[in-house]
Amino acid sequence: MHTLASTPVAEGLFQAADDGPHLIGTRCASCGSHYFPKSLSCRNPQCRDKQVADVLLSRQGILYSYTVQAYQPPGLFRMDDWSPYAIGMVELPEGLRVMGMLTGIANADIRIGMAMELVLEPLYRDAQGQAVLTYKFRPAAAAGGAR
Ligand SMILES: [Zn+2]
Repeated sequence: MHTLASTPVAEGLFQAADDGPHLIGTRCASCGSHYFPKSLSCRNPQCRDKQVADVLLSRQGILYSYTVQAYQPPGLFRMDDWSPYAIGMVELPEGLRVMGMLTGIANADIRIGMAMELVLEPLYRDAQGQAVLTYKFRPAAAAGGAR
């Protein structure tokens, strides 16, 4: 991995581990709720202590829903070689749903309920020529999916 030539699109979103990239979330030790992006407090109204800490979230989840973005968003969003892309909502085993771009599959082949896994991919190159990485979800390798 060319770590010198890449930079994350934002700090504190994801982190590489031995088994691959993970999203960095927050877990409440009091009630077990998970949050992504990280949360400074627990938002569960029934939770009293709200003892939250950063945690690496599971790399795999199930595609809960998705949509295809068919126009280029304005302003802050940057993406080189723009083309319509899918955004999915992936449900992680921790019980939260995370939104992210989908990759490694044609938009027409995406199916709700697919097993997905987290990957890092370049979104664009910055002024210094560094690849700016974001997280995406692709069909999980172990799940097959060819039917
Ligand atoms: Zn809590």
